Amino acid sequence: MKNSFTHNLPDNKGYFGEYGGSFIPPQLESIMAEISDAYDAIVQEESFLEELNDLYQHYVGRPSPIFHAKNLSAKHGAQIYLKREDLNHTGAHKINHCLGEALLAKKMGKTKLIAETGAGQHGVALATAAALVGMECDIYMGEVDIAKEHPNVVRMHILGAKVVPVTHGLKTLKEAVDAAFEAYLTDPVNQFYAIGSVVGPHPFPKMVRDFQSVVGNEARQQIQTMTGKLPDHLVACVGGGSNAMGLFSAFLDDESVAMHGVEPAGTDIEVTGKHAATISKGTPGVMHGFKSYMLQDEGGEPSAVYSVASGLDYPSVGPQHSYLKDIGRVQYATASDQQAIDAFFELSRTEGLIPAIESSHAVAHATVVAQNNPGSIILVNLSGRGDKDIDFVVDQYGKDYGIG
Ligand SMILES: *Cc1c(COP(=O)(O)O)cnc(C)c1O
Repeated sequence: MKNSFTHNLPDNKGYFGEYGGSFIPPQLESIMAEISDAYDAIVQEESFLEELNDLYQHYVGRPSPIFHAKNLSAKHGAQIYLKREDLNHTGAHKINHCLGEALLAKKMGKTKLIAETGAGQHGVALATAAALVGMECDIYMGEVDIAKEHPNVVRMHILGAKVVPVTHGLKTLKEAVDAAFEAYLTDPVNQFYAIGSVVGPHPFPKMVRDFQSVVGNEARQQIQTMTGKLPDHLVACVGGGSNAMGLFSAFLDDESVAMHGVEPAGTDIEVTGKHAATISKGTPGVMHGFKSYMLQDEGGEPSAVYSVASGLDYPSVGPQHSYLKDIGRVQYATASDQQAIDAFFELSRTEGLIPAIESSHAVAHATVVAQNNPGSIILVNLSGRGDKDIDFVVDQYGKDYGIG
């Protein structure tokens, strides 16, 4: 299946309405412009698109199927379909943009890929891509996440990447982003900062979205083949927002398709530091090089955030999501830790699919959408599989589900 990278947003300065842009130190301006130009040129090249599509097919295992979750559907009164990104090589959607970024970096003559990681999924996907294209790879990761996501840390080591522990602040994703950015500034000529979601300065929100748009482009054809129609609802979890943008981007012009982005409500959505529901609870501001909704204190500093899903606990969100919220095209809802864990076990026990805790937030909200819209067709992005989460979930919540 061909990628089509035809979207009218962002504008040439990287703005989606008032959001996005590029708020970076002066020494990075020419570097970012170079990346932007290289990207715009490379996506016009037939050979690049062929190479990427060949890897999607033979390396990642694309197209990922759509599965009609009949048991879950019967339980909740609507037709629920799952886009099976959990079946991808490395277990989640992130490999889609990591391969694109690694190929671009390689063609630009860079020698080292660097990145932050939360759940470890972006780190594993990037370390995988680095091994494949033959580049060095440094992954910055908070100490808390290193402890929680041990199997992914081991995978990165096996793949030949260096995992750099981040020991300040809350020792999670936000601090890892800061540390990776600092390291990037020391040598932006030879290093390529492969941002892990639709965030960061222009052109990353556009570029990562375009690489992820393969998800929506496939799903749009697949659901019509299976049901004869477009879906009534799309549901995807939103951390930085890349799996959601990947799915949503193919349907933005289809007015009949409602879209739901699901943010993590953590343990208490009313209390700062106990959730990471950026769009639902945040206000516009600038951090990490771009303007978007963010969870911030009175001084404009990012707030502490939390979610049971390491991949969702980020205090900002992709700028296109902020734009889509303001124009009312996408509805943003939340699912709590407990709702996500319930959905994790529900999907495991009704369909035999163990979802990532991140994806479980989308599954949780899909059951709410189903109950509110009986008989409708709901397409959920199952962004990743839960293998990485099983020890943590059983340790923390197993008793409630008859384990241990
Ligand atoms: C990283 C991750 C997410 C969150 O990232 P987005 O950029 O919001 O998609 C969601 N699901 C899984 C499985 C992940 O690994």
